[in-house]
Amino acid sequence: MTATSPDAPAPVLVLVPGATGAPADGGEGFHLADPAVPQLSVTDLVATRGDGIFETIGAFDGTPVNVGPHLARLARSAEMMDLPAPDQGVLAAAIDAAITAHDPVPELSVRVMYTRGVEGSGTPTCWIHARVSDDWSPYRAGMKVAVLDRGLATTVTRTSPWLLPGAKTLSYAVNMAAVREAKRRGAADVLFLASDGYVLEGPTSTLLVRRGDTFLTTPVSAGVLEGTSVATLFAWLREQQGLVAGEELMTVQDVRDSDGAWLLSSTRLAAPITHLDEHELPVDHELTARFQRVLTGGI
Ligand code: PLP
Repeated sequence: MTATSPDAPAPVLVLVPGATGAPADGGEGFHLADPAVPQLSVTDLVATRGDGIFETIGAFDGTPVNVGPHLARLARSAEMMDLPAPDQGVLAAAIDAAITAHDPVPELSVRVMYTRGVEGSGTPTCWIHARVSDDWSPYRAGMKVAVLDRGLATTVTRTSPWLLPGAKTLSYAVNMAAVREAKRRGAADVLFLASDGYVLEGPTSTLLVRRGDTFLTTPVSAGVLEGTSVATLFAWLREQQGLVAGEELMTVQDVRDSDGAWLLSSTRLAAPITHLDEHELPVDHELTARFQRVLTGGI
């Protein structure tokens, strides 16, 4: 990733003490705060145990995409983690406030962070952080991807739900370690492989594979995160293009034999895979550009 320039507009921080419900005093439950000063307690369970969940929402020309699906996923992650349910109305208003307070920019990354809170308090800590997105253009042009074994089978949701498959937790150290390993191997990103031989997802993205006029992704039941970007593209492919889109367990060979593959996510959008390890894949730049327009809400 190419870091944002040092003279980029300042990030915006919105603290959301009312994340589990607006306060009875009629306040909104959130307020702007200084992002340049420390705000988090050293005994917050996210600092001591990585115990929390998050969402990253893309906002393009000031308009956030898929806020409802992101907040619905945050609620599902909260439920899987036995966290109190977040108040989606308060959070949606806080997200709007963060975007409004930020200087207008083409691409904004809006993070919603929701932790188990300060030890013993039982109250989640929540904040929204909006900042200029990283420059993802090199990835959108095409990237090499390394296949890395995740060491878990596609049955993990049934056998070991305590591993929280499908929850977007704040314990991303393993995901980031995988990206560093990919870079050591000369690739830009990762496609995780299940121990039973099926491809899963990237550390921060969903796999999309094209086979002729059919577009496929990994079943959520295999233990991957339910992606908002792939849902948007599937709706467009089915409803606007009359194409077939669905879930299928796929092997590395299936992806090698495909007519193209992408890793999808809310701020990087559609990043076509040029090589899966050493194997070269076809890349359709025109279709990829259409995907970017659909994913930014432009269609
Ligand atoms: N899978 C994982 C593990 C992710 O972390 C992400 C996003 O960060 C995705 C998939 C893609 O999800 P979305 O398209 O909702 O951004």
